[in-house]
Amino acid sequence: MTSKTIRPALPAEEERQLLDAIEKWVQKSVIPQVRHHDHEDLYPTAIVEEMKELGLFGATISQEYGGLGLPASTYARIVMNVSSYWMAITGIFNSHLMLALAVEKFGTESQKQYWLPKFASGEVRGGLALTEPDAGTDLQGIRMVAKRDGDDYVINGTKTWISNGIEGSCFALLVKTDPAADPRHKGMSLFIAPKQEGFTVGRKLEKLGYKCIDSAELVFDNYRIGVDHLIGGVEGQGFYQATGGLELGRINVAARGVGIAEGALRLGANYAQIRKTFGKPIAEHQAIGLKIGEMATRARAARLLTLDAAEAFDRGERCDMQAGMAKYFASEAALENSIESMRIHGAYGYSKEYDIERLYRDAPLTCIGEGTNEMQRIIIAKQWIRQNPAA
Ligand SMILES: Cc1cc2nc3c(=O)[nH]c(=O)nc-3n(C[C@H](O)[C@H](O)[C@H](O)COP(=O)(O)OP(=O)(O)OC[C@H]3O[C@@H](n4cnc5c(N)ncnc54)[C@H](O)[C@@H]3O)c2cc1C
Repeated sequence: MTSKTIRPALPAEEERQLLDAIEKWVQKSVIPQVRHHDHEDLYPTAIVEEMKELGLFGATISQEYGGLGLPASTYARIVMNVSSYWMAITGIFNSHLMLALAVEKFGTESQKQYWLPKFASGEVRGGLALTEPDAGTDLQGIRMVAKRDGDDYVINGTKTWISNGIEGSCFALLVKTDPAADPRHKGMSLFIAPKQEGFTVGRKLEKLGYKCIDSAELVFDNYRIGVDHLIGGVEGQGFYQATGGLELGRINVAARGVGIAEGALRLGANYAQIRKTFGKPIAEHQAIGLKIGEMATRARAARLLTLDAAEAFDRGERCDMQAGMAKYFASEAALENSIESMRIHGAYGYSKEYDIERLYRDAPLTCIGEGTNEMQRIIIAKQWIRQNPAA
């Protein structure tokens, strides 16, 4: 699936049936496990097996390679729904699908034939390994080096914050194949890196939220892989390939933000109708009504911006600015709605026996991933000005 690939919308009935099946699964299997797994930071192994059966690991992979071939708009609706209950588990298939996208969009035909069916079934799962201890936003500052040695490359260096780093077995790995290149991005390449000798997990990272999914440091020590693992078979394309999935990546994160914003609204509005003070439900106090009105508006605006970007993506249009706006707005909406909902809950919002505390801890990640919101606004401004030059 690429931004040039046109993915027609599913017939309404087909999409409804799919979303209904996801909702049933969430109610039956996900909700009963969320608090325990989140509080204990446990990997949801049984849920992952069910995700395989639902086809989520191949959701956006083309049908010819064994995936569901869903349009971004349907995929975003799935992510919104699941995230409104438990955002972290969407990262298990989201990050994996970004690896698959890099291979499907930029890989050679033999790389696609070999890897994509394995990714689609969930037999091989993984993610995107870009960030290093000294380079996140400034990706061109990475230090990991791959040196050509006959028909192999030998890779050394460390990645950090890699989602699925422990449970996953294969990653799209961004390296420098020419550290002296000027400009720096011309010396970067992206590899398909399966776990094998020379590739170890440094440590699991402890986090504020986004529990259950493993975030890890990955260490590469004389890790040797064949040249056939270089995505697209040509050096120097890595920066372009690693950032080439950013439209779908931002739509993914926006959809997670929408889910949290909607989930926080649902929890807060529900509580406000049950909790009584001064003889009436707190929803009837104007101060609480104002909060619910603002939260509902933010959640709806976030949903519409995200679907607007996803539908443009499905039409094969360039939509990086729309996707950036959706990601920025929806993630801020997640943050604001989660704290407002927590306020509505009073002391219970601060309790681990209520779900809102989880949404409050999960929301900030959506402001960081797929480009921080500081960068997002700068990029939106540049694109806006480019498209609207002064008369
Ligand atoms: C839970 C979690 C999961 C993650 N999963 C992955 C993953 O699977 N794969 C992966 O590769 N990475 C992953 N990351 C890393 C994430 O992509 C980076 O954290 C992110 O890109 C920001 O990089 P940084 O943390 O190094 O911050 P820095 O780049 O050091 O930025 C620090 C601050 O400076 C600001 N800043 C930086 N440059 C500028 C500028 N030019 N103008 C204005 N402001 C600027 C930033 O917005 C930020 O506020 C994950 C991170 C987290 C927390």
